[in-house]
Amino acid sequence: PATPGAVPGPEQPPAPLPKGVVLGKDGKPCRSCTSKSAFSAWASQMGHAKPAPSSRPFSSAATTSTPASEAPARKDCPADVETLGRSTWTLLHTIAATYPPKPTPVEQNNIRDFFRLFSKLYPCWVCAEDFQAYMKKEAIKTESRDAFGNWLCDAHNEVNRKLGKPIFDCSKWEERWRTGWKD
Ligand code: FAD
Repeated sequence: PATPGAVPGPEQPPAPLPKGVVLGKDGKPCRSCTSKSAFSAWASQMGHAKPAPSSRPFSSAATTSTPASEAPARKDCPADVETLGRSTWTLLHTIAATYPPKPTPVEQNNIRDFFRLFSKLYPCWVCAEDFQAYMKKEAIKTESRDAFGNWLCDAHNEVNRKLGKPIFDCSKWEERWRTGWKD
């Protein structure tokens, strides 16, 4: 009988993937498309052991003297879908916050080019495909900071809706990302 959690041999069907694990186009779990918890569940199902702290770069005296099993959870791991998303929204909204109120044609082209490539290169492929579809449905608005910031806020809200997160009040996007809160 199969041992629970064991890596299946060639005669056994592969164990079902833990909920939330998204495969990459290479058929392997896509880290930047999957939450940290789902990815960890998959890694432990596959019996992947954490490397010993001493084999990691930048190890400090504090971590090298701690056995791997007792090491605190690390923060310098490859980005999961949430860390990547949070950092990316910070970048995108901050670009909107520093976009000129009255951009020149060149500045407008730059932002259009950036988003066209961004939507192709975003490392979570499922996110990227949905974002490309959104950009086809709702063309990017570049004529002013206000128009661009609101377009981006609506785009972010589309993802919030898909994920069941609260909808952000777009009349407050500048307070959140440019001026700081009034109160
Ligand atoms: P985030 O959504 O990352 O937001 C960060 C902060 O932005 C919030 O704390 C809030 O202060 C502010 N904020 C929230 N909404 C808005 C808004 N509308 N306008 C302005 N500011 C706002 N994850 C998936 O699981 N599936 C996907 O398909 C997916 N697609 C994505 C597509 C893109 C282009 C990006 C950049 C990210 C995507 N993500 C996706 C990640 C997801 O959107 C979140 O970033 C992630 O779940 C972490 O969420 P969070 O609750 O920390 O807040």
